[in-house]
Amino acid sequence: MADPKKLFIKTYGCQMNVYDSERMAEALGGSGYVETRTPEDADMILLNTCHIREKAAEKVYSELGRYKGLKAANPDLKIGVAGCVAQAEGDEIMRRQPLVDLVVGPQAYHRLPEMEARTRSGHKALDTDFPAEDKFEHLKARPKAARGPTAFLTVQEGCDKFCAFCVVPYTRGAEVSRPVDRILGEARDLVERGVREITLLGQNVNAYHGAGPDGETTLAGLIWALNDIDGLERIRFTTSHPNDMSDDLIAAHGTCEKLMPYLHLPVQSGSDRILKRMNRAHTRDSYLALIDRLRAARPDILISGDFIVGFPEESDEDFADTLDLIERVGYGQAFSFKYSPRPGTPAAERPQVAPDVADARLQELQALITRQQRARQDAMVGQTVGVLFEKPGRLPGQMVGKSDHLHAVHVDDCAARPGDLCAVRIVSSGPNSLAGILA
Ligand code: SAM
Ligand code: SF4
Repeated sequence: MADPKKLFIKTYGCQMNVYDSERMAEALGGSGYVETRTPEDADMILLNTCHIREKAAEKVYSELGRYKGLKAANPDLKIGVAGCVAQAEGDEIMRRQPLVDLVVGPQAYHRLPEMEARTRSGHKALDTDFPAEDKFEHLKARPKAARGPTAFLTVQEGCDKFCAFCVVPYTRGAEVSRPVDRILGEARDLVERGVREITLLGQNVNAYHGAGPDGETTLAGLIWALNDIDGLERIRFTTSHPNDMSDDLIAAHGTCEKLMPYLHLPVQSGSDRILKRMNRAHTRDSYLALIDRLRAARPDILISGDFIVGFPEESDEDFADTLDLIERVGYGQAFSFKYSPRPGTPAAERPQVAPDVADARLQELQALITRQQRARQDAMVGQTVGVLFEKPGRLPGQMVGKSDHLHAVHVDDCAARPGDLCAVRIVSSGPNSLAGILA
């Protein structure tokens, strides 16, 4: 039997890309590929790219440049670009970097095996369609290999919100939800293979409205259905839009045992003027009221968020409103970005904030978030929390995992195995993680 061909995938960006990379590896598994961790011994290199900020796209071009030597040494090496940069700049990539053999958009990667075959016969292959067929259905079922205790599962894709800064509606297309039975089937299969925690993914996951046995099902309905799967211990979901936080989903945070007390709820800005210009369709007050309702349902819920600083025309007062909102919410975690103009989006055409002003604001905001994050983490000391152990730690006998609130936790001299969900008493808090003992 011929040696299997080797596939090296490098993944940029969001968790959906992590999930997509797994599925692409499975699709190419059918063409005889196994994954390798080093590009040097690969027969195919695939970059699964992110287009959300300018730097993300530039990184792809510089990475491609690095493969010149490998391609010269092995002319049979095929190089592909997948993901959102592929979608946005398909032809441009082929023009700018002639060593690329294949470009595939995020909605077309089920066609990778045919595309790979095309490159093997000496042609270039480009597919950035939004095909009518369901790519998930066309992919082979996940092979029955054992898995780690946590997994991502994409349930919804695309976005119809068109925030003025964002490329997602253009690169990932219109919002679509997968049917409930397919998601439950995939979840059961993951659990059979050792998965204990599933994070449901979608660009707007809380807008989920997939076809279910009793008609259209909400995200809360899907979570309740997953809650019935024996062996599945934890459910999370990301990323949510404030306007799609429905009553049943808020209620589930208080009543659904497997739904973890953590919510990523991006607000982007605390200024109503900027929120309006961002086309966010919510206000700071509606967001703050939503946080109150969530905390009424689940008092210990950890709130995480996304912020953009230096959005066009953001004034000092607007920025002060953002800091004030952060003070009011008290974030347990947050991601913050300097605004990056994206070609084709409305905000890219507007008067821009000076880069040094945006840099200074980003630093100030991040310092505040870091303080809040640390305070929330330190407050866990003395509490007993659930920890799902994932792998051995750096020290002999140590195990590491995540708490219900998604804090990293390590336990020394630990009898637990990967996949065990244990009660752990937190004894100390370090810069990035908590230390505990089995309770
Ligand atoms: N759908 C999610 C939401 O509504 O917030 C977020 C999806 S986006 C992939 C993740 C984050 O990237 C956004 O929340 C935003 O903070 C950031 N982002 C998106 N476009 C950006 C841009 N042009 N410049 C800087 N940050 C951006
Ligand atoms: Fe982008 Fe999220 Fe806005 Fe959709 S809701 S346009 S994904 S930031």
